[in-house]
Amino acid sequence: MNATLDWLATTYHTFFSVFFFCFGAIIGSFLNVVIYRLPNGLSIAWPGSHCPKCNHHISWYDNVPIFSWLILRGKCRHCHEPIAIRYPLVELTGAILLWSLFMHFGLTPYFVASAVLALMLLAISFIDLDNFYIPDVLSLPGIVLGILFALWTGQPTWQEALLGAVIGAGILALVLVLFQKITGREGMGWGDVKLMGMLGAFCGVWALPAILFIGSLVGIIAAAIWLAGNHRPEEAKEKEEIKKEQENTKKAQEAKKNKKAKESKLVEEDDDFEIPAGAIPFGPFLSIGALSWVFADRLIMELFQRFQELFI
Ligand SMILES: [Zn+2]
Repeated sequence: MNATLDWLATTYHTFFSVFFFCFGAIIGSFLNVVIYRLPNGLSIAWPGSHCPKCNHHISWYDNVPIFSWLILRGKCRHCHEPIAIRYPLVELTGAILLWSLFMHFGLTPYFVASAVLALMLLAISFIDLDNFYIPDVLSLPGIVLGILFALWTGQPTWQEALLGAVIGAGILALVLVLFQKITGREGMGWGDVKLMGMLGAFCGVWALPAILFIGSLVGIIAAAIWLAGNHRPEEAKEKEEIKKEQENTKKAQEAKKNKKAKESKLVEEDDDFEIPAGAIPFGPFLSIGALSWVFADRLIMELFQRFQELFI
């Protein structure tokens, strides 16, 4: 009897680990589209996948997450132009995130809540890396979602989630305004403020110090590494490639967009935000801080406590 139960449990566990890894890769593939099209105001649903260089439609067998890129050795089947390694990397990250969250939480409400958070952060981080801005259509619903999940899971409680959103956004708004007053420069954007509100809503008010601390620490380390190795022609080239792809798609769909925009009179003005020299996007680092909390909240609390005991 026990042996049968053990066998069932193992099978069930193996099945779901494989399932969530694959499902994460598929969502990662979808997030590639979101990351690429959302900042340009393009439709997520239309058109289907196509090569940004030769515009050739991509068949389903060339669009299998991670594998297709490997089999095609990173090149378009039709025009043989390179496909940025970014695409399979986002898919792999989605797969690893969903799989590891399942391993950590099992099939529980916390798994659902943290999976939604992690995958939203994956999209937000890459959009922020590319464009130095975080779309409100992700962060603002994120705040509401965080509080709704808290009502469902009770961890954090909805009061902690609400306080987390208000205080999280409040702290970053204060930092942003003070930094601007003192230096006359923009160190962060309001996108970071709203993102912090979302993280506070999902993780609760008690997570805020850890998220800010880990986010800043990783951010400073990354900035130091980036400054030390500032000559990375490959990376610059890849960024250039992605920019070019985005422009191509943009041009191709400009006509359609203009027509639509005129119809709906919902033309959003392009903001003239200029990327400050030497600035780094804060969104990905806040995301790393939040995910560290999701995976290791108890360990982080314990470390904070130990640290405190050293001084008191
Ligand atoms: Zn092509």
